[in-house]
This record gives sequence, C-alpha cells and structure tokens, in this order.
Amino acid sequence: MADRVNSLPFFYGNITREEAEEYLQQPGAGSGLYLLRQSRNHFGGFALSVLHSGRCYHYTIERESNETYAIAGGKSHSSPIDVIDYHSQEMDGLVCRLKKPCNRPKNMQPKVGPFEDLKEKLIQDYVKETWNLQGTALEQAIISQRPHLEKLIATTAHERMPWFHGKITREDSEPRLQNGSRTNGKFLIRQRDVNGSYALCLLHEGEVMHYRIDQDRAGKLSIPDGKKFDTLWQLVEHYSYKPDGLLQVLTETCPQPDGDTGQSLLPQDTSGFASIFQNAAGGFLAKIKTVPKPGRQKSRGSRHENKDSSTPNPYDAQLPINSREVTIESLPMDTPVYDRTYADPDELRNSIVNHKQLILENEELGSGNFGTVRKGIYKTKMTNQPVAVKILKNDESGTSLREEMLREANVMQQLDNPYIVRMIGICDADSLMLVMELAELGPLHKFLQKNKQTSIANITELVHQVSMGMKYLEEHNFVHRDLAARNVLLVTQHYAKISDFGLSKVVAEDQNYYKAKGHGKWPLKWYAPECINYFKFSTKSDVWSFGVLMWEAYSYGEKPYRGMRGNNVLQLIESGMRMDAPPNCPEEMDSLMKTCWTYEVEKRPTFAVIEQRLRRYYYDIAQ
Ligand code: AMP
Repeated sequence: MADRVNSLPFFYGNITREEAEEYLQQPGAGSGLYLLRQSRNHFGGFALSVLHSGRCYHYTIERESNETYAIAGGKSHSSPIDVIDYHSQEMDGLVCRLKKPCNRPKNMQPKVGPFEDLKEKLIQDYVKETWNLQGTALEQAIISQRPHLEKLIATTAHERMPWFHGKITREDSEPRLQNGSRTNGKFLIRQRDVNGSYALCLLHEGEVMHYRIDQDRAGKLSIPDGKKFDTLWQLVEHYSYKPDGLLQVLTETCPQPDGDTGQSLLPQDTSGFASIFQNAAGGFLAKIKTVPKPGRQKSRGSRHENKDSSTPNPYDAQLPINSREVTIESLPMDTPVYDRTYADPDELRNSIVNHKQLILENEELGSGNFGTVRKGIYKTKMTNQPVAVKILKNDESGTSLREEMLREANVMQQLDNPYIVRMIGICDADSLMLVMELAELGPLHKFLQKNKQTSIANITELVHQVSMGMKYLEEHNFVHRDLAARNVLLVTQHYAKISDFGLSKVVAEDQNYYKAKGHGKWPLKWYAPECINYFKFSTKSDVWSFGVLMWEAYSYGEKPYRGMRGNNVLQLIESGMRMDAPPNCPEEMDSLMKTCWTYEVEKRPTFAVIEQRLRRYYYDIAQ
C-alpha cells in the first residue's frame, strides 16, 4: 500500500496535523479541499484532512484486521484510495464531500518520518542478530517477511531506544532523571509491574512527573484521557512535538546508567523526535544484548543461541536437535531449514550420508512410482536433524529409476535457496536413498484443501516465496518442468519450498531451452503449448506452470481444468480460452496468472517480473 499511496500527489507522508492545516488554509481555498497524510498514532494507518468553511477537520483512516481501510465506524474499503473515492461521492459522516485534492508543492516529496528513516537499519540489524543471517539469506528473509518484520519492529522498537529503561521502579527512575543535565523535558519510559502498562517520567523545573501509560484491550497505549497510539515510539513522537496535556514537550533522552548516553536534541531540531530516534539507532546492537527478545518467544531463537543451549532433545538427550521449537505459525527463519546449516559439514563427504547415521521412522510422508518418502533422523556428532528420505523401491524397474534418482540428486546438489528443498545427501544402502530437508506440512494443495480458512494474504505470501525460488532457478538456468502445487511443500504455514526435481534440467545459457527427445508421462495441464507441440522447455514454460500453480493456490487446492483430459486442455488453450479466476481470487492475482498464460513465449513475463508483482501485492495486503 505504501508504494501506491506514496505516488499520490496529495499524499504528504509524515506531516503533523498543524502542517496539514497550513497547506489546506491557502488563500481562496474552498470547502472540500483535502489531503492525505500518514497517521502518527495508528501503525499502517492514514489521516485525511479536509477544509470546510475555513476550518480543518481530520479523520483517521485505520487499517483493519481484515486487510481493509475505514474511517472509524465507517464503511470498509480495500485501500485508502478507495476511501477517498467513496467520500468524493458520499459525505457519509464527513463534514462535506471531498471535492478537490490539495497537491504537494512542486518538488516536495512525501515527508519521511524518523522511524521510517531508521526502519531499514532496524530491520537489518534485527534479522542479523535474531537469526544470525547475512548476505543473500538475510536479504531474502527481509524480502519475504517484510510485513511481519515491519510490524515486529514497530511494536518492539522502543525496547532498543535509549529512552526506554525497562522494568525499573518509580524510585529508581527519579535519580536517573535528576543526575547530570536537568533540562526541562528530559524523559524516560519505564515498564510498570501492571501488565502491559508503562510510565512516562518527565523532568520539569527540577521535579520528576510520572504519567501512567495504559494499554487498552485492543493494545492501544495512552496517557489517561490522552490520544491513543499503537506503539510507544509513536507516543514519544507525538509528545515530543506537542505537550497535549503534559506539563511540557519531551526534549531530551535520559541516559541509561550502563553507559548509554542520551544526547541533547540538536539545536536546529524543532520536532525533537528525529534526534531522539537517531541516538537510538547507534545503540541498537549494543542494546539488543540486554533487552529480552520480543514477540514470538516460542519459536524465536538465534542459531548461535541454539548451539550452546541445553534444549531437551526429543531424540537424544545428549544431542541438541537442529531445530528450535517450530510451530505452524513460525517464520521461515525460525525453522532449521531456512539457511544451509548442515550441522557438521565435515561429516558429509561428497554428499554421501552414512547409513549408520540415518534412522528411518515409520511415518510415510508420500509415495510415487520410484518408491516411498519417509521421515527420518540424520544423526551427526553435533545434531539430530529431522529429514525426509526418498527411498527407491527395489524391483525390476530399478535401474532406470535409479538413474533418474541420481540425476535428481545431481540437480538438487547444485541448488541452495531458502525456498527450495535442499538435498542433504545420498545414502546407498539396501536401497538408494535421497536425504532431503523435511517440509513437514506437506504439499501446498493438500494443505489448502484442509485449511480453507487460510487468508488470501497467507496464500499470497506462499506464492510469492515460490516465485522467489523460481527466480533463483531462472538466474541459474535451471528448468523445473514439474512446477505444480503438489510439488510445493510447506515447512510451516508461512514457509513454502519448491521440491521434486525429477524432471529438472540445466539449460545452456545461449540456447535457453531444453528440447525433450520425445513425449513422456507429462503433467499436461501444467504445460505450456510449446512443451506439448514442440517439446521445448524453458524458464518461460515454468512461468506457464506457475500460473496454473497460482490458480490451484487461490482455489484452495482444486484440480485445474476440472473434468477435462490433459489432451483436451491444449485445444482449449489453442482456441484462446483460459481458466476462469477461482472464486474470491483477487483481481490483481487473476491478471497475473493470465499473463503467465500468454501464448507467445517471448511475451510471457520472467520470474524476476512476476516476483516483483507478487511482492508489491503481498506488501499491499499483508498486515
Ligand atoms: P515427490 O515424488 O518428490 O513429489 O514426493 C512424493 C511425496 O512425498 C510428496 O508429495 C510429499 O508428500 C512427500 N515428500 C517429498 N519430499 C518431501 C520432503 N522433503 N518433506 C516432506 N515431505 C516430502
């Protein structure tokens, strides 16, 4: 949403109510002149300011939990832009209809708030520290989890701010404020014993004032009878530019006794908050060590923490298992299969798994014409890793299947991406076994068939991850040739991985397609026309399959081209027809899958383009 709103000429970004009034009250301005700005108290929300009979009125456009936007108590719309369009037609509770946008002065960009400015660094540092990630793994974690991370950062950023002193008593806070500089407006925030409440402690004329900050049932924070805020940093931002009931505005961060120095505001800074935040950015990494990690405690834990921890191991009391407590809700980075972390790579030589280190469990995860896939444990000196083991059946078809499996292993060995199932190794014992990362929740289509309450945002998150994995394959000249929802496996409800490389091929960079020698046992409903007509497979034919996969995902695991035989599907495609959008499929996603089904190979988008479109749409709708 932010991108789309940012490009509106009447969006001013993070300006104050007073600044909005100055822009609106131009000489000769008529009733109904309006502008949009970022809300300074609702996270992800907006504020609409309207001029009527010489006075300005301000309405908050809140982001609601079901991915919609509304003026409090009003009709819900899918975006703030739709809220504005609606109120251009209907007053419906506003003081007047919105008549004319008040556009930003020439060369003025929407104002970026101090938090927005720092957000990138906060997110980077947070991901680096919490999951011990760097390089591509860090970059990909941020791309795929940005909406979650932004929320996490917004609601926990205060813990990294020098003005947040944690759980200290009222008595402890007073000498902290009275020591050193005694500037009016020097302040700190402390956590109170009472659940979810804080106190703002403010120095004024040498005395410390304590204001309670309560949290209501919806989690909103406020000083008694004061304005409500989603986050503590918004509250601090507000009171640092306006006293609004306090004895005075917040001016200077009170330093922490452990040596963190709060600094005075820059003399030229009138709002104050920018530098209050800037001080914080530097101290972020130092602070994270002293402040307990916020949020999702259950699944959180960095890799280095795990190595030293004595977490009980369900398999072997001596060996720390290579997994944190992963729940269905865990973020990809919380799982042991996000980064390539084969606990002890020294033990794995040439991708060969010693059969003595492999314990097969009875649980069968799936099967195919090659044999079965079973759950197992790969034991090394350092960890016990839960794995999936593809076991080749021993029968007369063995030789060709064996070759196929070795070819699959050869492809998998070359791939390393968080959104692709990685091979751990090959184990050649009584049967040939392909040992892989475990994606416990199984194939995407089956998961969605059983979990019809899965939100569109959640589906889009998963489909976007598949596009990230496919973009990686595209960049490395691999053609999957069997991309379908059945071959996307879920590690958690928020983490998808592409699997089954049995048909995959590397293509020469100059040729960019693979020509099959003949027709095989092919998944025709997923295949582009050129695959069936000319046996030509390229990244672009994977793009076609990706469109079908999207259709499967948004239809909650329905079979594509229901009731039709694979052969008849080609006739339908050749006649220019395409599948209808699944019920409730967002228009934007329907249009994307239709572009994947562009007949002409050259006109079909690349995965690089698809990933961008999915990313934009996912960020727009995710909470
Ligand atoms: P495949 O032939 O590779 O598609 O595997 C057949 C079935 O085995 C899949 O549909 C999954 O249900 C299961 N399976 C395969 N690989 C894994 C894995 N890495 N983790 C969990 N289940 C798997």
